[in-house]
Order: sequence, then structure tokens, then C-alpha cells
Amino acid sequence: MSDLIESLRSVVGDHSLETGESINEDFTHDEALTLVPIFPKAVLHPNTSAQVVEILKIASATKTPVTARGAGSGMCGACSPVENGIVVAFDRLNNILEIDLENQVAVVEPGVTLSQLNEALAPHGFFYAVQPGESSATIGGNVATNAGGMRAVRHGVTRNHILGLEAVLPNGDIINTGGKISKISTGYDLTQLLVGSEGTLALITKVTVKITPILRHSSTVLAPFATIEEITGAVPKIIASGVSPSILEYLDFLAMAGASSNAGLDLGISEEIKSKAMAYLLVVIESTDESRSDQDVEFVANLLDELGALDIYILPSSAALALIDAREKAFWAAKAAGANDVIDVVVPRSTLPIYLSKVAELAAVDGALVAGCGHVGDGNVHLSVFQPDKTKLHALMLSILKTGTDLGGAISGEHGVGTEKLPFVKELVDPLIIELWRKIKAVFDPDGIMNPNHLIPD
Ligand SMILES: Cc1cc2nc3c(=O)[nH]c(=O)nc-3n(C[C@H](O)[C@H](O)[C@H](O)COP(=O)(O)OP(=O)(O)OC[C@H]3O[C@@H](n4cnc5c(N)ncnc54)[C@H](O)[C@@H]3O)c2cc1C
Repeated sequence: MSDLIESLRSVVGDHSLETGESINEDFTHDEALTLVPIFPKAVLHPNTSAQVVEILKIASATKTPVTARGAGSGMCGACSPVENGIVVAFDRLNNILEIDLENQVAVVEPGVTLSQLNEALAPHGFFYAVQPGESSATIGGNVATNAGGMRAVRHGVTRNHILGLEAVLPNGDIINTGGKISKISTGYDLTQLLVGSEGTLALITKVTVKITPILRHSSTVLAPFATIEEITGAVPKIIASGVSPSILEYLDFLAMAGASSNAGLDLGISEEIKSKAMAYLLVVIESTDESRSDQDVEFVANLLDELGALDIYILPSSAALALIDAREKAFWAAKAAGANDVIDVVVPRSTLPIYLSKVAELAAVDGALVAGCGHVGDGNVHLSVFQPDKTKLHALMLSILKTGTDLGGAISGEHGVGTEKLPFVKELVDPLIIELWRKIKAVFDPDGIMNPNHLIPD
């Protein structure tokens, strides 16, 4: 062991290596609620791709498991260390290498955070359109989880914004995929294979992302409804209307109450409406032109009225920003309230009414509580599950996830599998698909050192 640590020290130096008791507890887990923290043998903070190459050569030679880490904001244990393994933290590989306005791309190192990239792009009138609710997340973590977020309904998820990658294979070879090009039809698409691979194939050391012009005029509509079914039924109609909302989210009354009290929000909703509202729909309209934005807001407000909204609020921008922020932080409100697990099932949008009513039935059986919000425009719901009994929790999680896959959905729409959703993948994903994943992994990683026991069941 000490040989391994000394070899790694010779690559990154003392100041970029943590071992034993010097390892910060934060590196032993991510934000998954069910995770048991694990201390790795060492945490390394490389400054260059060349150091990543040398680290992987040493790990390969010693068959040492390697787990990549961005900001550790993941929700499924994807960056949780492997016992006797090492963690490669990308916090010091965090330079924005280029902003190319003509090609509308930025080339960045993987440790660049979302807030860092957006701050650098804002003066140019651009932003990075993938916005998962945690802006301390890194681009590397976004790529490796195929992160989504509130704006996916209009702009798509991470994979729609990644044009090229530099990645280091476990044997230390560097590959460059794609580039500053808007299309490619030349062989298997390795860029897209690495997106969502949760550090199980290679370490990403450079990313070429699309950047998007900021639309200056924004309006936010909030509509309470008497039933969730009315909201889920309204969503396909709003999308089919041709208005292209930038954000289309729902919060059930529990999630709304938790998010509002956590943020100290008062949106001016009367007690009478609050007492009737089982859920709220949040619609953000953005445009380059103020009058166009106003027309779209009027159109959406009329549509929501026809679709049965109890009332319609056009929020002032400060209240709108506060509500969006509170919605992004809904996870912390659920955690503070004692949630035992979270789910991010995605189902075909049209099946949401039946999905959510089946979830309510399942939760009622053992007296569990399931509260929700989510990216309703994508059919992607975030459910907080309150069931302290571990056996009952697992059974409930499995049946809620199976209800989603039976409707043609997937276990995770954006958070990923990591370690914590692995048992459910084993139960619910086609064994032929899992076998192909294993074979693909073996091609990249014949010794199985890259984030083992994550994403792919044994
Ligand atoms: C409050 C809150 C709200 C959130 N909202 C959303 C949301 O709306 N949508 C959403 O999709 N997610 C959301 N998330 C989850 C999380 O922010 C995303 O999954 C994010 O992409 C993780 O980035 P990270 O840098 O924290 O990665 P980490 O958690 O550190 O790692 C995630 C995965 O990426 C791998 N990885 C990291 N860097 C590299 C690299 N350079 N090379 C190879 N693999 C690498 C890790 O090994 C791991 O498998 C939320 C999280 C929180 C706490």
C-alpha cells in the first residue's frame, strides 16, 4: 500500500494528495440519502491531464479501483468511493480554456462548475443551457451523469450539449472525440457513449460544450390546480400549443409548502386557494422580444384558465427567481423533513396521470408518505419517499420504480444509477442490455478498475 501511495505522491505532489486521517469526510459520499460513507485509500487532486494519465497507469499496474469525483452533488452514490480504491477529484482541473462565440462553444476542463461557466459566459450574452438544481456541480459530473434539470424541457439534457471530449483510458491512453462540430457521422459515437457512463469507462479531462444565447425577456406564471391529474393532463396540451416554455415544473402541495417555508416565500396566494390547491404548475416563458413574451404569457394564462387552474399569478421577477430557487432546493427541504430516499423516474409524458395515481396507491399501503415535484414537461418526477422501515422502503421503491418501467419509463431520468439504484437496475433492466453494458465496459476497462460496483450490476 505504501508503495502505491508513494508512486501517486510522486505524480501529484504532497499538496495534492490526501491519505488516511487527512481525507476530508466530504469525499466519502455524495448526496444520496441512503449511502453508507466509505473512506478511500487516497484522494488525489491532479492539475493536468498528464497527471491523470500517470495516475491511471499506476492504478492499472496495481489493479487499484478509481472513482472520479466532481463536486459530489450527485444523488445516487455515483462518486462514492470503492473500498481500497482511490478518488480522483477534479476540483483543480478547473480552467475555462476557450470561449468561441462564432462556433458557439466553450472548451473547459471537467472541474469547471456550472456557476463558474455561466459567470464567464454572461458578459458575452451566452449561458450553458443545462441547469441541474445544484450550480456547484461540475461539467465533468454533468457529462458523466447526463444531468438534466429544469431547462431540459426546452433545451434538452447534457448529451444534447456535448460536442467533444478528451478522455483518459484506464491504460493511460488519451482519446479525443468529436470537437467544435455540430454534427458527426463517422463511426460509433464515443462522445455519447461516455456521456452518462459515471466514470466506469474513462476519466474525462476536457469537454467541448455548446453555449446558448441568453433570452433577455422572461415571465413566470404560477397556476394552482385542485388535482395533480389536471396538471399532468394539462402539460401535453401546453407543449402541443407551440409555446416553448423554458421551464415547466410541478410541485405538489407538500413540496410547495416545504419549499416555501424553507425559503420564507410569500407569493400572495390566498388561504382559500391554498386550501383547495393540491398542486402547482410553474411555467417560465422567455423570448428575445418583450411584446412576444407578453403575448405568449397571455396565451399560456388563457390556456391554463381553460384547463381548470384555480387562479393564475404572473409573478414579479424577484418572486419568480425566489420560487425557482426554492424549487431547485426542494431536495434540501425534503432531506430536512426526514425523507428516506428520492426517486427520479421518467415516464412518457402522457402516462403521468396514471403513474402518479398508482404511486399514491402504493404509498398508502404501508402508511408511507410520497411527496413530489419535478420536471413535469419531461415526464420526469422527483419523489421524496418517507418510509423509515428499511425493508418496507426497499419494497416500496421497487414497486414505484417498476410502475414507471411498466409504463415504458426508466428508473432514472437524470440522477443516474451509481451504487444506490444498482439493486433496482438488476431487477428491472433487461439482462441482455446489462450483458452488453458489461461487454462494453470490458473493452474500455479490461481489469475492471474504473468505478467498479457502480452503474452495472455484478
Ligand atoms: C439540490 C440538488 C439539486 C439537483 N438537481 C438536479 C437536477 O435538477 N437534475 C440533475 O440531473 N441532477 C440534479 N442534481 C444532481 C447533481 O447535481 C448532478 O448529478 C450533477 O451532474 C453532479 O455533478 P458533480 O460535479 O457533483 O458530480 P459528482 O457527484 O461528483 O459525480 C457524478 C458522477 O460523475 C463522475 N465524474 C465526475 N467527474 C468525472 C470526470 N472528470 N470523468 C469521469 N467521470 C466523472 C463521478 O465518478 C460520478 O460517477 C441535484 C443535486 C442537488 C444536491
